[in-house]
Amino acid sequence: MIQLIRGFRDILPGEVELWQRIEATARDLFEGFGYREIRIPVMERTELFARSIGEQTDIVEKEMYTFPDRKGELITLRPEATASIVRAYIQHRLYAQEPVRKFYTIGPMFRRERPQKGRYRQFYQINVEVFGVASALVDAQLILMLVTLLERLAVEDVHVHANSLGCPACRPDFRKALSDYLASRMDRLCSDCRRRSEKNPLRVLDCKVPDCRDAMTGAPAITDHLCDDCRAHFDTFRRALDEQKIGYVIDPRLVRGLDYYTRTTFEVQTGSLGAQSAVAGGGRYDGLVKALGGPEMPATGFAIGLDRLAELVAARSEGTAPGPDVFIAALGDESRRRAFGWVCELGLDGVQAEMEYGDRSLKSQMKRANRLKARRVLIVGENELAAGRAVLRDMQTREQQEIPLPAVVEEIKALAAASRD
Ligand code: AMP
Repeated sequence: MIQLIRGFRDILPGEVELWQRIEATARDLFEGFGYREIRIPVMERTELFARSIGEQTDIVEKEMYTFPDRKGELITLRPEATASIVRAYIQHRLYAQEPVRKFYTIGPMFRRERPQKGRYRQFYQINVEVFGVASALVDAQLILMLVTLLERLAVEDVHVHANSLGCPACRPDFRKALSDYLASRMDRLCSDCRRRSEKNPLRVLDCKVPDCRDAMTGAPAITDHLCDDCRAHFDTFRRALDEQKIGYVIDPRLVRGLDYYTRTTFEVQTGSLGAQSAVAGGGRYDGLVKALGGPEMPATGFAIGLDRLAELVAARSEGTAPGPDVFIAALGDESRRRAFGWVCELGLDGVQAEMEYGDRSLKSQMKRANRLKARRVLIVGENELAAGRAVLRDMQTREQQEIPLPAVVEEIKALAAASRD
């Protein structure tokens, strides 16, 4: 038997309803804030990701699914969505008439990480991006949307971590202070961090190796090195969070290693997911639109891990996949013919009806209706056809009533509508 690829998975009916509910809640919320959906391709030229995410990141160095297409051009399955959204914003000159654009997108991402619980090679993200607003108020609004989404989904035990990464004016000063500190701790760092400390010292701050973490206690904090503009930006951000009554902690280790990432950065973590505690992450990337060939344009956004969010929501809800509104137990060819007509008519009207297509006894059809958790069963056999009336049984109250055949569809529609209210 052919099995799926390691790190990939199926989301089966039973679980998928939860995903649909999360997606619908997110769409509803974002659209209420004026965000519009954008759909981008799952493959792009490798160069787009190499340039936007950065050559010296784990994603680009070792996690991308990259291969030459038949003509030898290197293409990559997208490991994240921001790069493609920026590309689309530039390519279609979406800034030309109105630079402020607000987008969301939902879809699969691909990273060849080591699979484990909560970490997959194909995983899903909900992305939100805003272009054209430099103000920190928008960063706070993004976090408001994020925590509201979690609240609406009844997810608890979430914590907002925030930091500022400064800007190209003040970061070199911090980099210098950090490099001096790293030089004094070099013998205690893992081999990756020794390499990083030269090319990308900020990344040492978020290394997960315990010895590196120990070595970094006492490292300089970037928030002590911000220039006046960046400090004012960070203060505005914090005040706006306070005014919106959003709790957060300042986490000086929260960094992204690239120059495009500026100022606000944040992550939402939870205590309920074990090792993979990050549910969402985001921040500003004021330098990226320019770096990818567009105009100078501030931008900010976040990505929610949908797989992890679904796990959190599942932990708090008992999966109730609804059964069909009616199961039609038909006996004999003529009854099945009539039943099929009703099933189609009801289905077209959004009333879920199921039937048995084979020649089965009433007993076995009733068993099946029970298994499907049908709310009602409509019984039609030769006697019912002759009498011109079918029997409708309510599976909860066990009450039965007779319905004239021409009224079957209307009657079931009315009952289904009533039980939905
Ligand atoms: P990132 O794009 O790395 O900032 O990730 C944003 C969010 O996507 C994280 O907070 C996770 O919830 C989720 N995520 C990232 N990588 C994976 C993965 N391999 N499997 C499942 N979820 C992931």
